[in-house]
Amino acid sequence: MTAKHTCERSHRRGCSGSSRPPFPSPNSPADKPAQYLRGVGPFRAKLLEGLGIRTIADLVEYFPFRHEFQGRPQSIDSLDLDEHATVIGVVESVKWRGRFRQQTCRVVLNDSTGTLCVTWFNCSYLKDRLQRGQGLRLFGKVGVDQDVAAMVNPTIVTWLDLEEDPAQWDYDRMVPVYRGTEKLPSRQIARMVETALTDVLNTVQENLPGAICRERQFPGRREAIQQMHYPKSAEEVASARRRLAYEELFLMQLAVMLMRRWSSVRVQSPALPVTSLIDERIRRRFPFALTAAQDQVIREITADLAGQRPMTRLLQGDVGSGKTVVALYAALVAVANHHQCVILAPTEVLAAQHFAGIDRYLAGSRVHRCLITGKTSKAQRDKMLKAIADGRMNLIVGTQALLESKVQFASLGLVVVDEQHKFGVSQRATLRGKGPTKRHPSTSRVPHYLVMTATPIPRTLSMTVFGDLDVSIIDALPPGRQPIVTRVVRSADEPEVWLGVRRRIADGDQVYVVYPLVEESDALDLKAATGEVDRIAQDLLPGARVGLIHGRMKKKEKQAAMRAFAVGDFDVLVSTTVIEVGVDVPNATVMVIQHAERYGLSALHQLRGRVGRGSKASTCLLLTDSQGETANERLKVLCETTDGFRIAEEDLRIRGPGELIGTRQHGLPEFRVANLVEDTDLLLQARDDAARVAREDPKLESPAHAILRVDLRRRFRDTIAFVDVG
Ligand code: ADP
Ligand code: MG
Repeated sequence: MTAKHTCERSHRRGCSGSSRPPFPSPNSPADKPAQYLRGVGPFRAKLLEGLGIRTIADLVEYFPFRHEFQGRPQSIDSLDLDEHATVIGVVESVKWRGRFRQQTCRVVLNDSTGTLCVTWFNCSYLKDRLQRGQGLRLFGKVGVDQDVAAMVNPTIVTWLDLEEDPAQWDYDRMVPVYRGTEKLPSRQIARMVETALTDVLNTVQENLPGAICRERQFPGRREAIQQMHYPKSAEEVASARRRLAYEELFLMQLAVMLMRRWSSVRVQSPALPVTSLIDERIRRRFPFALTAAQDQVIREITADLAGQRPMTRLLQGDVGSGKTVVALYAALVAVANHHQCVILAPTEVLAAQHFAGIDRYLAGSRVHRCLITGKTSKAQRDKMLKAIADGRMNLIVGTQALLESKVQFASLGLVVVDEQHKFGVSQRATLRGKGPTKRHPSTSRVPHYLVMTATPIPRTLSMTVFGDLDVSIIDALPPGRQPIVTRVVRSADEPEVWLGVRRRIADGDQVYVVYPLVEESDALDLKAATGEVDRIAQDLLPGARVGLIHGRMKKKEKQAAMRAFAVGDFDVLVSTTVIEVGVDVPNATVMVIQHAERYGLSALHQLRGRVGRGSKASTCLLLTDSQGETANERLKVLCETTDGFRIAEEDLRIRGPGELIGTRQHGLPEFRVANLVEDTDLLLQARDDAARVAREDPKLESPAHAILRVDLRRRFRDTIAFVDVG
């Protein structure tokens, strides 16, 4: 089921008559496929698609990443070798060589002072325009060709109409440089953008409410787009950029707010209040007192659960901060209120581990609980499904496989998703669809929803990406943790690492050795990890007991290996990132990460969280032979801090939001202009303004918001359902 379906279903179910999402259907000439633009055609359309450009509007909004400043034209006899220069001249002759797309063109260009010899490679697109007598304004680097001044692949700044007043030709220009590809270089993109602007710029309408534009002193939308491509000054680019960045942020926030409003009046969850008796009974299950940080987020969660407004809360907490305990608390609140709870983990190993942990806390309790994974036997599974359907089963732990199957819940009150950035939107939607129940048909249309993540998501990002979620943060670790010492080690110094590891093993400690394995099917890296087991066991740590765990092992093998390591049958566990989240072996105090430069900072931080879980001091060693400056700078951040938020901010700055939490998975559009790190001030302004609009005109019915309404629909038609999902 897709996100959209759920959206439609819930509104159909939800109420009478006119309950449609508050957006009309799009309709604009700019929404036509780019292919229909003059000079594009199917072949270039394909290339454009590679850049994410599908429609003419996409092309108009494909903004240059920089401009070349081109000074006043120089006469040919005054050109300096190796300098960039602008030249105006008339084509004297054109010669073509080569075939089809590999054609080379040589042009002799004259002005009143001399001759310039110009060569373009792969320029068949110029074929029907380059003719004797054509006036050109060129920008490029000056070279020599057989003693004559020359340029290779200069930018054609303008095709000049020689009838026109030459004074018109004679001004400074900023020329756009677009991110292109080998087959589609900037100058070709520039031509297409120019055509697109000529054709549709006049259909571009102001989408921001006039009051906002005035208050924030933004240029109009048409003006801003024009200035992004062809500014007269650097200031113009800056102000155009601000406006367009603001616009993206504003539209995103507004979409989220409107959808949230829209769904909040139509869906309800069961009220799951907590009495002091329930609270006491739940707390008795834990062999420790909850930390102040845990108590705080439990207060936030229980306040949500007590109401009928569906909870959509993101629970953030650094690795080891005790999220699972909080989730179990919430689960038991649901159970105490005679509703079911399902807890989902991204992998089977983690689901099994969650279940084992929960099972321990619940030993001797009357809570009926089960673990369902893709590999549960059919007979067992059928039995469990029956117990779930008739309400005997209270607490269900599983993986995504659970979402894909036809599970019928008697009365699902709460869904907890661990590490939700591993899930896609459609899965979140599927779960939401599990709302209606037999037992409480009138009250519980959708379950409450708690998402746990160990990836500390910077505020700017969670506001945008998770704008539909409330956020709770566990900001302190349980007592008694030892800090983890982190060091970057050059591969050349690796022997020293193994020496240290040997000493720790002699002391009875355990060690993780991690290899990057980006894809589970990545055969080469797998070989590296498996090959490494032998190298470690035979050469580096003779006598040590070495185990291996990787993503391609069978579930049973993985669990067996993990269990053997947990009970101390192995000294060393060589692994791929399958241990990234959740695994808990307090006696493991050393982690060696090979090729550390290949991971993102947040991934490294999560890996590192596998050690330092007991009372002994732990060490994390980041092995790398990368000479890259950014790589080393990044790794240094990890040595300096264990603050997940700082690390995430840094990751965000260096790699962009998509990498950090997989926004692509969420089906969110990437921002074209806005930068979530640098535009925080705009984000806050946009949020305030969007909140005001959503409050004053939640259906965007005012004429002042007509275009806004159309534009929201145009931008979010594929993803708008997302905001209804969370
Ligand atoms: P997370 O899921 O956030 O990584 P867990 O819930 O798995 O963290 O907790 C990590 C470890 O800390 C577990 O071994 C758990 O038993 C322990 N723990 C959790 N809360 C507390 C607490 N309040 N006091 C002491 N230990 C705790
Ligand atoms: Mg956990």
